[in-house]
Amino acid sequence: MPQHYDPSSTAPQDAFERERLENVHPPGWRNPQPTERYSLVVIGGGTAGLVAAHSAAALGAKVALIERELLGGDCLNVGCIPSKAIIRTARLYAGMRNAEQYGAQIPADIRVDFAAVMERMRGIRARIGRADSAQRLTAAGVDVYFGQARFTGNDSLSVDGTKIRFKKAMIATGSRPDTPSIPGLAEAGFLTNENVFDLTELPRSLLVIGGGPLGCELAQAFCRFGAQTIIAQDWPMFLPREERDAAQILSDSFARDGIEVRLNTRAVNVRIEGGQKHVELVSEDHKSTVAVDAILTGTGRLPNVEGLDLEAAGVDCDETTGVLVNDFLQTSNPRIYAAGDACLKHKFTHTADASARIVVQNALFFGRRRLSALTIPWCTYTDPAIAHVGLYVRQARERDIPVKTFTIPMHDVDRAIADNEEAGFVKIHVKDRTDRILGATIVARHAGDMINEITLAMVAGIGLRTLAHVIHAYPTQAEAIKKAADAYNRTRLTKTIQSMLRRWLQR
Ligand SMILES: Cc1cc2nc3c(=O)[nH]c(=O)nc-3n(C[C@H](O)[C@H](O)[C@H](O)COP(=O)(O)OP(=O)(O)OC[C@H]3O[C@@H](n4cnc5c(N)ncnc54)[C@H](O)[C@@H]3O)c2cc1C
Repeated sequence: MPQHYDPSSTAPQDAFERERLENVHPPGWRNPQPTERYSLVVIGGGTAGLVAAHSAAALGAKVALIERELLGGDCLNVGCIPSKAIIRTARLYAGMRNAEQYGAQIPADIRVDFAAVMERMRGIRARIGRADSAQRLTAAGVDVYFGQARFTGNDSLSVDGTKIRFKKAMIATGSRPDTPSIPGLAEAGFLTNENVFDLTELPRSLLVIGGGPLGCELAQAFCRFGAQTIIAQDWPMFLPREERDAAQILSDSFARDGIEVRLNTRAVNVRIEGGQKHVELVSEDHKSTVAVDAILTGTGRLPNVEGLDLEAAGVDCDETTGVLVNDFLQTSNPRIYAAGDACLKHKFTHTADASARIVVQNALFFGRRRLSALTIPWCTYTDPAIAHVGLYVRQARERDIPVKTFTIPMHDVDRAIADNEEAGFVKIHVKDRTDRILGATIVARHAGDMINEITLAMVAGIGLRTLAHVIHAYPTQAEAIKKAADAYNRTRLTKTIQSMLRRWLQR
């Protein structure tokens, strides 16, 4: 039977959206006839699923991939790509408003064309979606099924009534927003990442509930488009897992943008009054009510494990953390593996990709690659962005590892000064008395790009001492990393060495 996808989407069904669907869920798609037994069946066609299916097929395995909605998953359709596309435009508007700082003159009444911003985003999404297409998968030899997968036994599953048998399977069903249970919220209506990118009109006012990466990135973007934005976070700081000084710089930046910051604050009730959503907020010592046009929630993620009939396959799972896997990403059923958001603590596209590669090796080639061996960086793409890799100081202390930290403020970096991008720092932690890098946090406009150098150093076992010998193009913001390495090298100049040098030079 041809598979039709009903996106139930309120996004304009324009040429970009038609192109995206043509690629990621072609209308009228007919599922193939299953072969007797696949070498690998992949459930979920997001990043993890696509990477596994393409790599396994390229190695010669007979592969099936099952997707119930849209290939490309969250990242392409409702995550990284649409968010980064609109964040770029938001940054441009913020830059225009600050034009005078750069000695430029811009008319005072800058008009934001939000519909055009979202159209640009849809164009980018459609273009990037070509790489995730069903046609590309079939051309690579992958059998693509659209429909909901359910296990029917240890080595079998069904897709809308069609039985499929496998030697190995990978669960890559991703995650979904964890909606807060606030009385009145559902009745009042709210946005999540699943529908916010369908908007064509900018809400005049917006309450963002949740100060994690999603809430912070989108609050700043919507504020910069001109929505009167409030962000409520029930912790004393944003991005709770990041270092305090990093989160503080973000709070300051939000305040400069004009976002109303409510920390230590919980939303406890929502009601509709006069066409607006009235949200009761409770802080430590007082209650207040804000009236907004729209509410966006970003309060965490839940793994998509429901409806898979995991019990039928003997796969253990936890509703909040997802499919339970060992370090080889194998589930309690040795034939079945998992990757990506469905099982990982670090829910990122690059971890979905890396974990899928581990599964292909371990499932098909008796590999023994371990998840714990990965060095995983991440970045929140606010302005400035906040990126991290490796250990935080508190984690090193918990493990009794002595730490020494080298910090370079961005206001000491020529390029950051020239760019008016002085808020932030590069902070690199090494094991005390060695140059072994334990971790780093970077707060800077280009933190996401800069952290890759530190990740490379950590993976390749390159110490901070060697980074001091790496010539960095001048002027770049990444020179902050070299400056941190130079600072480390200066600590090697002990008093004895200094006086020996002095004696030598004064001969
Ligand atoms: C707003 C937002 C911004 C983000 N930005 C970034 C970023 O900048 N950088 C970054 O690294 N990460 C980012 N992420 C996270 C990133 O999108 C996810 O970590 C990544 O998409 C996970 O990939 P995945 O393959 O595990 O799952 P998904 O992409 O969720 O794919 C899972 C797929 O499985 C399908 N599926 C589920 N159940 C079944 C079933 N029973 N049968 C068949 N198919 C099924 C789903 O339809 C889905 O297509 C962002 C996320 C959000 C929400």
